Amino acid sequence: MVETASSFSRPATSPFERLHKFHGGLKLPGHREVSAARPISSAGVPPILVLPLQQHIGAPAECLVQPGDTVYKGQLIARQVGAISAAVHAPSSGTVTAVEARPVPHPSGLQAPCIIIKTDGLDRYQDSESTALDYSRLAPDELCVHIRRAGIVGLGGAGFPTHTKLGCGKHKIDLMLINAVECEPYISCDNRLIQERATEVIEGARVLQHAVQADNCIIAIEDDMAAAEEALRAALAASKATDIKVTRVPELYPSGGERQLIRILTGREVPSQGFPADIGIICQNVGTAAAVYNAVIKQQPLLSRIVTVTGDGVVQQQNFETLIGTPVSHLVAAAGGYAQDVERLLIGGPMMGYTVPSDNIPVTKTLNCVLAVSREEMPAPPPAQACIRCGKCTEVCPADLLPQLLYWYARSSNHDAAQDYDLFDCIECGCCAYVCPSHIPLVQYYRHAKSEIWLKETQTKASDIARQRHEAHLNRLARIKQERAERMAKKKRALSNDDGSSDKKKAAIDAALERVKQKKQQANTLPKNVENLTTEQQQLIAAVDKRRQQNDEPE
Ligand code: SF4
Ligand code: SF4
Repeated sequence: MVETASSFSRPATSPFERLHKFHGGLKLPGHREVSAARPISSAGVPPILVLPLQQHIGAPAECLVQPGDTVYKGQLIARQVGAISAAVHAPSSGTVTAVEARPVPHPSGLQAPCIIIKTDGLDRYQDSESTALDYSRLAPDELCVHIRRAGIVGLGGAGFPTHTKLGCGKHKIDLMLINAVECEPYISCDNRLIQERATEVIEGARVLQHAVQADNCIIAIEDDMAAAEEALRAALAASKATDIKVTRVPELYPSGGERQLIRILTGREVPSQGFPADIGIICQNVGTAAAVYNAVIKQQPLLSRIVTVTGDGVVQQQNFETLIGTPVSHLVAAAGGYAQDVERLLIGGPMMGYTVPSDNIPVTKTLNCVLAVSREEMPAPPPAQACIRCGKCTEVCPADLLPQLLYWYARSSNHDAAQDYDLFDCIECGCCAYVCPSHIPLVQYYRHAKSEIWLKETQTKASDIARQRHEAHLNRLARIKQERAERMAKKKRALSNDDGSSDKKKAAIDAALERVKQKKQQANTLPKNVENLTTEQQQLIAAVDKRRQQNDEPE
């Protein structure tokens, strides 16, 4: 069954049938017509692949290769570290030339550790083709292992490791929500993915539904995705999947935000600073569903993704199947290069994306759009003016926050007050800045405040750990000292409680020594060499003894 925006007011006859509204939002021009109309093209294998060890939320992966190593397509080159982390695989065959810091997609031009592979153009796999896996025979936690090993993260933007998000058995989930609501202008990679690979999307959705044992599964698309809807319906009919529903939601930015989409489809609110799983829902991007299909059914790790290359600043606006690690410069060249009037390069869309200083950065797992804009298309914003307290930002905020107050608190570094006003519920959608008549770059203030708070928390945690270690050291020293004192006291007590047995032993030893001494003396007084004497000798000895006896007698 297909829902439309007109069903907002229809009474519900089954779960998730009625659509709900969220606060605020904006109707924005799509700018997707050109890229969405062209088929996905391959960006090919670039001469160099640059693979950051951190392409996800959580701990960076641990590098397993070194310069000089030969690697094959699909080979594990960096392993997951801890529960919230993701593995990295070689997207093509070649030789590792370096493991070093390189610029990565970030507004500041940040550098981070990367594995550099010089490709050999052969695209050789390490193992022979693997056989298809029957996921329905696997338990949820076994499925999660396959997804984890494939290094899959949320391809919709944030990059949360998918196996962690699924939780696989940790929560009772009643709805698996596949998010194909590509509400940000210019981006059309999910739209093209569904049009061309609807079967993979449906199968990936079924795997995800099985992994969390959800009773219901909805694939949500936007109202203007008619061709994608048709492809999904055809694939659903072919698969005979009766428990997956396709729902169209109105074109309103940011309907594709996780919290907003859950609100639209279920009327439920994700708790402040909580997760959808807290209310029995898991939300996964449609690209992630296709990646899960590849990981589980085809047993292939995440090696590529679809990237929209768009804007008046490139010659050919199109979607490209792009190997992870492909330099953005290579991708732009695949799109025919820059147009003459290119002004700026953005990663992501115009609302949530950011300007980068150079195209010398790699495509990562979460990079969905390269937007090269001309001056007319996106002129530089005029200088910011003072806030006039018009309240327009509050009217459009989809998170139902007070952006004006958040701005004041962020600007004055009053972080406690900013947190009291739910700064961390801000999804950085940019609606407030878009309507602000004073052109205040509000989102920049929120991002800066959030990173300052995170930094402070990290430092506090580090000093807490250091203090705990020092206290543990002092406690250990005190314990050793106390144990030593107790041993000494015990010895003393043993001596003072003596019952006389040691004196008896000493007396026995002294008596034995005395007996030995007397024996020795006796032995020394006995006459020696008195055997076999002649008569004269015996008479002589007797005379001597008699004289000695006379001499010894007292006078
Ligand atoms: S829209 Fe801009 S000027 Fe108006 S209240 Fe918000 S921050 Fe102030
Ligand atoms: S950026 Fe944050 S504060 Fe501004 S409208 Fe979006 S959610 Fe609200």
